[in-house]
Amino acid sequence: MDSTALRCDVLIVGGGPAGLSVAATLPDDVSTIIVHQDHEIGLPIRTSGGCWMQDVVRLGIPEGMYIRLDVSEAFSDTAHTVIPMGDAVPVILDTPKLYKWLAQQSDHKDRRLLLGTKFLTTRQREDGLYESKIRARGAGHDTVISTYIVDGSGWHFAVLEALGLARKPARLAVGTEYEYPMGQNAPNRGVIFFGSKVPAGYGWAFGTAHGTLRLGVGVIQPDTDKSPREMLDAVVRDQPYLDRLGLTLEGEPMVHSGILPSVAYDEQLVFGNVIRVGDSANFATPTVGEGIRVCIDLGRMLGVQLGKAVRTGRNGPLRTYERKCRRQLKRDYKWGFLVNTRAARYKPADWDRSVRRMGMLGSEAVVATLRGEFPPAKIARIMLSLLRPYLRARLKRLRSRFGRV
Ligand SMILES: Cc1cc2nc3c(=O)[nH]c(=O)nc-3n(C[C@H](O)[C@H](O)[C@H](O)COP(=O)(O)OP(=O)(O)OC[C@H]3O[C@@H](n4cnc5c(N)ncnc54)[C@H](O)[C@@H]3O)c2cc1C
Repeated sequence: MDSTALRCDVLIVGGGPAGLSVAATLPDDVSTIIVHQDHEIGLPIRTSGGCWMQDVVRLGIPEGMYIRLDVSEAFSDTAHTVIPMGDAVPVILDTPKLYKWLAQQSDHKDRRLLLGTKFLTTRQREDGLYESKIRARGAGHDTVISTYIVDGSGWHFAVLEALGLARKPARLAVGTEYEYPMGQNAPNRGVIFFGSKVPAGYGWAFGTAHGTLRLGVGVIQPDTDKSPREMLDAVVRDQPYLDRLGLTLEGEPMVHSGILPSVAYDEQLVFGNVIRVGDSANFATPTVGEGIRVCIDLGRMLGVQLGKAVRTGRNGPLRTYERKCRRQLKRDYKWGFLVNTRAARYKPADWDRSVRRMGMLGSEAVVATLRGEFPPAKIARIMLSLLRPYLRARLKRLRSRFGRV
């Protein structure tokens, strides 16, 4: 046995919102090691941070870590609409601040956060414990012996792949963002654009909590073989297009890029003492790839259930985590994935129709689609609102025919 090995009850791989939220709700005395390959929590930025006011309030995210969007507009090649949001308020999270705050939630616990440290591989020993190899940048290998491992490594699926439990997803949403000074742009305005500039994806622009403007493009690969950066560069070079979106770009931008899985929801989250959470469990909504609020919510729930499992030595609580996630996500993500695969094939003319329709639909339908929520009653109302113009036209035709008879 390796006497220099680090030991803990729970090894968490990945210090993103999912892994950090698990650590935050584990009981104080459950010993935890988080290995995170980046040198700082929350940096580099790999996400846009779009969320909703109702969720930041529910999750207790402090003010100052987000900015609200008061107006959101959608553009396609020939259509433009102000998106009806009703009472829903979109916000943009300051993710470096937020993720550091999430990390602080477990600072007082029996927890070690190893930054700049990569999880390499793991194996289950005969005594059932996991022996994992990690490497700090510029240093040698280390060994971690743990009872449980949480895969919070995002699209890397680092633990699941190492153990042959699941393969890295073949279909990915890949995004690039440029961040500019705010300049003349309205800080509380959000823009989303579709069509010929962003085949198999969409673009966005919004103000951030620290007074900058982010302009980005995300696409699904391999549905398109073009990179989001090529598309974003084409947008940035096209001054008339920027004018139409109402955007002014100044100075040299900072560049951010990120990847997330874009595959159907897989309900298996627990593999003995190995559990997945966050993007490695495909938690981001299939409609627009919004994952942060879901990762925090379900990550916190996993921390509680895993704490019970560590205390009792039984894995029943982990099954509860898996079941609750299934209940919360399975149906919505099935519908959402249908929307995702359909939209990825849309031609510019389809987007023109969609953007026009977005302006005519009620806010309930639009917000439900953006949030990736499709309860049956909502679907029925959305279908009715889509069918209403058709039914009205048909009724009119019948009336005029009846009138002639
Ligand atoms: C371009 C883009 C835009 C997005 N926009 C939004 C948005 O507007 N709103 C929203 O809610 N969501 C958005 N998302 C999705 C959201 O970012 C993710 O759902 C969320 O970050 C997932 O959190 P996570 O903790 O599971 O994984 P991650 O955030 O990916 O964190 C995992 C961490 O693990 C680390 N890691 C990986 N492998 C190892 C290893 N072997 N060893 C050690 N560390 C490792 C990684 O460096 C990473 O930092 C976006 C995603 C992308 C790519």
